[in-house]
Amino acid sequence: MFGRYAPSPSGDLHVGNLRTALLAWMFARSSGRGFRMRVEDLDRVRPGAQEQQLADLAALGIDWDPPVVLQSERLAVYADAVSTLEARGLTYECFCTRREIAEAASAPHGVPGHYPGTCRRLTEEQRAERRAERPAALRLASGVDQFTVRDLLHGTYTGPVDDLVLVRNDGVPAYNLAVVVDDAEMDVDQVVRGDDLLASAPRQAYLATLLGAVPPHYAHVALAVNGLGKRLAKRDGAVTLADLALYGWTPADLVAAIADSLGMAARDAVGMLDEFDPAALPRTPWVFVPPTG
Ligand SMILES: [Zn+2]
Repeated sequence: MFGRYAPSPSGDLHVGNLRTALLAWMFARSSGRGFRMRVEDLDRVRPGAQEQQLADLAALGIDWDPPVVLQSERLAVYADAVSTLEARGLTYECFCTRREIAEAASAPHGVPGHYPGTCRRLTEEQRAERRAERPAALRLASGVDQFTVRDLLHGTYTGPVDDLVLVRNDGVPAYNLAVVVDDAEMDVDQVVRGDDLLASAPRQAYLATLLGAVPPHYAHVALAVNGLGKRLAKRDGAVTLADLALYGWTPADLVAAIADSLGMAARDAVGMLDEFDPAALPRTPWVFVPPTG
Protein backbone atom coordinates (compact mmCIF):
# COMPACT_ATOMS: atom_id res chain seq x y z
CA MET A 1 0.00 0.00 0.00
CA PHE A 2 1.09 3.56 -0.74
CA GLY A 3 0.77 7.20 0.10
CA ARG A 4 1.41 9.74 -2.62
CA TYR A 5 2.18 13.29 -3.61
CA ALA A 6 0.66 14.58 -6.83
CA PRO A 7 1.91 17.98 -7.96
CA SER A 8 0.65 19.89 -11.01
CA PRO A 9 3.68 21.07 -13.02
CA SER A 10 2.42 24.60 -13.53
CA GLY A 11 5.36 26.31 -11.83
CA ASP A 12 7.65 26.00 -8.83
CA LEU A 13 6.24 24.49 -5.63
CA HIS A 14 5.89 27.04 -2.83
CA VAL A 15 6.69 26.43 0.81
CA GLY A 16 3.10 25.41 1.56
CA ASN A 17 3.17 22.77 -1.20
CA LEU A 18 6.55 21.55 0.02
CA ARG A 19 5.28 21.28 3.59
CA THR A 20 2.25 19.26 2.48
CA ALA A 21 4.57 16.98 0.47
CA LEU A 22 6.76 16.44 3.53
CA LEU A 23 3.67 15.63 5.59
CA ALA A 24 2.39 13.17 2.96
CA TRP A 25 5.80 11.50 2.93
CA MET A 26 5.89 11.25 6.74
CA PHE A 27 2.34 9.87 6.92
CA ALA A 28 3.24 7.20 4.34
CA ARG A 29 6.68 6.18 5.55
CA SER A 30 5.76 6.24 9.25
CA SER A 31 2.89 3.85 8.57
CA GLY A 32 5.03 1.40 6.63
CA ARG A 33 3.62 2.42 3.26
CA GLY A 34 5.49 3.09 0.07
CA PHE A 35 5.36 6.59 -1.39
CA ARG A 36 4.34 7.35 -4.95
CA MET A 37 5.01 10.45 -7.00
CA ARG A 38 2.41 11.35 -9.62
CA VAL A 39 2.67 14.34 -11.93
CA GLU A 40 -0.77 15.74 -12.74
CA ASP A 41 0.10 17.08 -16.17
CA LEU A 42 -3.22 16.89 -18.01
CA ASP A 43 -3.50 20.65 -17.80
CA ARG A 44 -1.49 23.82 -17.13
CA VAL A 45 1.98 22.44 -17.81
CA ARG A 46 4.96 24.78 -17.75
CA PRO A 47 8.05 23.40 -19.49
CA GLY A 48 10.73 22.43 -16.97
CA ALA A 49 8.42 22.73 -13.96
CA GLN A 50 8.17 18.98 -13.40
CA GLU A 51 11.94 18.54 -13.23
CA GLN A 52 12.31 21.51 -10.88
CA GLN A 53 9.52 20.31 -8.59
CA LEU A 54 11.04 16.84 -8.26
CA ALA A 55 14.47 18.34 -7.62
CA ASP A 56 13.03 20.60 -4.89
CA LEU A 57 11.22 17.68 -3.22
CA ALA A 58 14.41 15.60 -3.28
CA ALA A 59 16.40 18.54 -1.87
CA LEU A 60 14.16 18.47 1.22
CA GLY A 61 14.93 14.78 1.77
CA ILE A 62 11.73 13.33 0.33
CA ASP A 63 12.17 10.05 -1.53
CA TRP A 64 9.66 8.05 -3.53
CA ASP A 65 9.20 4.65 -5.08
CA PRO A 66 9.82 4.74 -8.83
CA PRO A 67 8.58 5.23 -11.42
CA VAL A 68 7.32 8.80 -11.41
CA VAL A 69 3.84 8.43 -12.92
CA LEU A 70 2.72 10.96 -15.54
CA GLN A 71 -1.01 11.36 -16.03
CA SER A 72 -0.46 12.39 -19.65
CA GLU A 73 0.78 8.84 -20.33
CA ARG A 74 -2.32 7.23 -18.85
CA LEU A 75 -5.11 8.42 -21.14
CA ALA A 76 -5.99 4.83 -22.10
CA VAL A 77 -6.46 3.93 -18.43
CA TYR A 78 -8.89 6.82 -17.90
CA ALA A 79 -10.74 5.91 -21.11
CA ASP A 80 -11.17 2.34 -19.81
CA ALA A 81 -12.66 3.61 -16.57
CA VAL A 82 -15.06 5.86 -18.48
CA SER A 83 -16.10 2.91 -20.67
CA THR A 84 -16.83 0.86 -17.57
CA LEU A 85 -19.11 3.58 -16.21
CA GLU A 86 -20.72 4.15 -19.63
CA ALA A 87 -21.48 0.45 -20.01
CA ARG A 88 -23.33 0.57 -16.71
CA GLY A 89 -25.42 3.56 -17.77
CA LEU A 90 -23.73 5.83 -15.25
CA THR A 91 -22.79 8.66 -17.60
CA TYR A 92 -24.50 11.26 -19.76
CA GLU A 93 -23.50 14.03 -22.11
CA CYS A 94 -23.62 17.62 -20.85
CA PHE A 95 -23.75 20.54 -23.25
CA CYS A 96 -24.02 23.32 -20.69
CA THR A 97 -21.80 26.37 -20.90
CA ARG A 98 -20.14 27.67 -17.74
CA ARG A 99 -22.68 30.46 -17.75
CA GLU A 100 -25.65 28.12 -17.95
CA ILE A 101 -24.30 26.12 -15.04
CA ALA A 102 -23.72 29.28 -12.98
CA GLU A 103 -27.24 30.51 -13.71
CA ALA A 104 -28.83 27.18 -12.84
CA ALA A 105 -26.85 26.95 -9.61
CA SER A 106 -27.97 30.43 -8.53
CA ALA A 107 -31.66 29.58 -9.11
CA PRO A 108 -33.87 29.50 -5.98
CA HIS A 109 -33.34 25.79 -5.30
CA GLY A 110 -29.81 25.65 -6.68
CA VAL A 111 -26.77 24.73 -4.62
CA PRO A 112 -23.74 26.97 -5.29
CA GLY A 113 -21.18 25.10 -7.37
CA HIS A 114 -23.53 22.14 -7.68
CA TYR A 115 -24.49 20.98 -11.18
CA PRO A 116 -28.29 20.73 -11.21
CA GLY A 117 -28.46 17.81 -13.66
CA THR A 118 -29.99 19.81 -16.52
CA CYS A 119 -28.68 17.60 -19.32
CA ARG A 120 -29.59 14.37 -17.57
CA ARG A 121 -33.17 15.06 -18.59
CA LEU A 122 -32.53 15.75 -22.29
CA THR A 123 -34.32 13.56 -24.83
CA GLU A 124 -32.28 11.80 -27.51
CA GLU A 125 -33.59 14.35 -30.01
CA GLN A 126 -32.48 17.31 -27.90
CA ARG A 127 -29.09 15.68 -27.49
CA ALA A 128 -28.66 15.30 -31.23
CA GLU A 129 -29.57 18.97 -31.67
CA ARG A 130 -27.12 20.16 -29.08
CA ARG A 131 -24.33 17.91 -30.35
CA ALA A 132 -24.43 19.95 -33.54
CA GLU A 133 -23.87 23.16 -31.50
CA ARG A 134 -20.99 22.28 -29.22
CA PRO A 135 -18.96 19.30 -28.04
CA ALA A 136 -20.31 17.55 -24.96
CA ALA A 137 -18.64 16.95 -21.65
CA LEU A 138 -19.36 13.61 -20.03
CA ARG A 139 -20.86 13.60 -16.55
CA LEU A 140 -21.42 10.97 -13.92
CA ALA A 141 -25.07 10.12 -13.31
CA SER A 142 -24.60 10.14 -9.57
CA GLY A 143 -26.88 7.98 -7.48
CA VAL A 144 -26.37 9.96 -4.27
CA ASP A 145 -26.55 13.58 -3.08
CA GLN A 146 -23.86 13.21 -0.46
CA PHE A 147 -21.22 10.81 0.73
CA THR A 148 -19.26 10.33 3.93
CA VAL A 149 -15.51 9.86 4.26
CA ARG A 150 -13.22 9.29 7.22
CA ASP A 151 -10.38 11.74 7.67
CA LEU A 152 -7.54 11.16 10.12
CA LEU A 153 -7.59 14.83 11.15
CA HIS A 154 -11.20 15.86 10.52
CA GLY A 155 -12.99 12.69 11.62
CA THR A 156 -16.18 11.80 9.79
CA TYR A 157 -16.87 14.25 6.98
CA THR A 158 -20.02 14.29 4.88
CA GLY A 159 -20.15 16.43 1.76
CA PRO A 160 -22.24 16.91 -1.37
CA VAL A 161 -21.84 14.75 -4.47
CA ASP A 162 -23.20 16.06 -7.73
CA ASP A 163 -23.07 14.82 -11.32
CA LEU A 164 -19.38 15.59 -11.63
CA VAL A 165 -17.61 15.92 -14.95
CA LEU A 166 -15.66 12.81 -15.98
CA VAL A 167 -14.41 14.01 -19.36
CA ARG A 168 -14.22 17.69 -20.25
CA ASN A 169 -15.72 18.92 -23.49
CA ASP A 170 -12.23 19.22 -24.96
CA GLY A 171 -11.79 15.47 -24.45
CA VAL A 172 -9.39 15.77 -21.50
CA PRO A 173 -10.15 13.49 -18.53
CA ALA A 174 -11.41 15.59 -15.63
CA TYR A 175 -9.30 16.05 -12.52
CA ASN A 176 -11.64 14.06 -10.24
CA LEU A 177 -11.72 11.08 -12.59
CA ALA A 178 -7.95 10.94 -13.09
CA VAL A 179 -7.22 11.24 -9.37
CA VAL A 180 -9.63 8.46 -8.43
CA VAL A 181 -8.53 6.09 -11.20
CA ASP A 182 -4.86 6.68 -10.46
CA ASP A 183 -5.12 6.24 -6.71
CA ALA A 184 -6.99 2.96 -7.20
CA GLU A 185 -4.59 1.66 -9.87
CA MET A 186 -1.46 2.74 -8.01
CA ASP A 187 -2.52 0.98 -4.77
CA VAL A 188 -2.71 4.33 -3.02
CA ASP A 189 -4.76 3.81 0.14
CA GLN A 190 -3.67 6.98 1.96
CA VAL A 191 -4.28 10.47 0.58
CA VAL A 192 -2.65 13.36 2.42
CA ARG A 193 -3.20 16.80 0.90
CA GLY A 194 -4.25 20.36 1.69
CA ASP A 195 -7.54 20.88 3.48
CA ASP A 196 -8.78 23.00 0.56
CA LEU A 197 -9.49 19.62 -1.06
CA LEU A 198 -11.51 18.17 1.83
CA ALA A 199 -14.75 19.17 0.09
CA SER A 200 -13.71 17.09 -2.97
CA ALA A 201 -13.14 13.93 -0.94
CA PRO A 202 -16.79 12.76 -0.76
CA ARG A 203 -17.30 12.87 -4.53
CA GLN A 204 -13.94 11.23 -5.18
CA ALA A 205 -14.60 8.50 -2.61
CA TYR A 206 -18.04 7.88 -4.10
CA LEU A 207 -16.58 7.62 -7.60
CA ALA A 208 -13.99 5.18 -6.27
CA THR A 209 -16.74 2.89 -4.96
CA LEU A 210 -18.45 2.97 -8.37
CA LEU A 211 -15.18 1.83 -9.93
CA GLY A 212 -14.93 -1.03 -7.46
CA ALA A 213 -12.21 0.52 -5.33
CA VAL A 214 -12.08 1.07 -1.59
CA PRO A 215 -11.83 4.82 -0.84
CA PRO A 216 -8.43 5.76 0.62
CA HIS A 217 -7.73 6.90 4.16
CA TYR A 218 -7.68 10.68 4.03
CA ALA A 219 -5.72 13.26 5.99
CA HIS A 220 -6.41 16.84 4.92
CA VAL A 221 -3.73 19.02 6.47
CA ALA A 222 -3.88 22.74 7.26
CA LEU A 223 -2.46 24.97 4.54
CA ALA A 224 0.17 27.67 4.64
CA VAL A 225 -1.17 31.23 4.72
CA ASN A 226 0.39 34.67 4.38
CA GLY A 227 0.54 37.34 7.07
CA LEU A 228 -3.05 38.35 6.27
CA GLY A 229 -4.33 34.82 6.80
CA LYS A 230 -4.92 34.25 3.08
CA ARG A 231 -3.81 31.08 1.35
CA LEU A 232 -0.14 31.45 0.44
CA ALA A 233 0.55 32.24 -3.22
CA LYS A 234 3.46 33.14 -5.47
CA ARG A 235 2.55 36.83 -5.32
CA ASP A 236 3.28 36.83 -1.58
CA GLY A 237 7.01 37.13 -2.32
CA ALA A 238 9.89 34.73 -1.70
CA VAL A 239 7.95 31.50 -1.31
CA THR A 240 9.83 28.98 -3.49
CA LEU A 241 13.20 27.35 -2.82
CA ALA A 242 14.69 29.34 -5.70
CA ASP A 243 13.29 32.63 -4.28
CA LEU A 244 14.45 31.77 -0.77
CA ALA A 245 17.97 30.95 -2.00
CA LEU A 246 18.28 34.63 -2.94
CA TYR A 247 17.84 35.43 0.76
CA GLY A 248 20.42 32.87 1.82
CA TRP A 249 18.02 30.08 2.71
CA THR A 250 19.21 26.53 2.01
CA PRO A 251 16.77 23.60 1.61
CA ALA A 252 17.86 22.57 5.13
CA ASP A 253 16.76 25.97 6.47
CA LEU A 254 13.32 25.46 4.96
CA VAL A 255 13.03 21.93 6.40
CA ALA A 256 13.90 23.38 9.82
CA ALA A 257 11.23 26.09 9.41
CA ILE A 258 8.67 23.45 8.43
CA ALA A 259 9.67 21.31 11.43
CA ASP A 260 9.15 24.37 13.67
CA SER A 261 5.74 24.94 12.10
CA LEU A 262 4.80 21.37 13.02
CA GLY A 263 6.09 21.72 16.57
CA MET A 264 8.93 19.27 15.87
CA ALA A 265 12.45 19.47 17.28
CA ALA A 266 14.09 17.55 14.43
CA ARG A 267 16.10 19.55 11.87
CA ASP A 268 15.99 17.19 8.88
CA ALA A 269 13.52 14.93 7.09
CA VAL A 270 14.85 11.68 8.57
CA GLY A 271 14.68 13.10 12.09
CA MET A 272 11.17 14.42 11.44
CA LEU A 273 10.07 10.99 10.28
CA ASP A 274 11.36 9.49 13.56
CA GLU A 275 9.51 12.12 15.57
CA PHE A 276 6.31 12.13 13.50
CA ASP A 277 3.05 11.78 15.42
CA PRO A 278 -0.14 12.50 13.43
CA ALA A 279 -2.09 13.13 16.64
CA ALA A 280 0.28 15.97 17.57
CA LEU A 281 -0.07 17.88 14.29
CA PRO A 282 -1.22 21.49 14.57
CA ARG A 283 -4.77 21.97 13.24
CA THR A 284 -4.34 25.62 12.35
CA PRO A 285 -2.73 27.06 9.21
CA TRP A 286 0.98 27.82 9.05
CA VAL A 287 1.58 31.55 8.78
CA PHE A 288 4.60 32.02 6.51
CA VAL A 289 5.98 35.51 6.19
CA PRO A 290 8.54 35.55 3.37
CA PRO A 291 11.93 37.18 4.05
CA THR A 292 12.34 40.63 2.57
CA GLY A 293 15.86 41.70 3.36
ZN1 LIG B 1 -25.49 20.18 -18.88
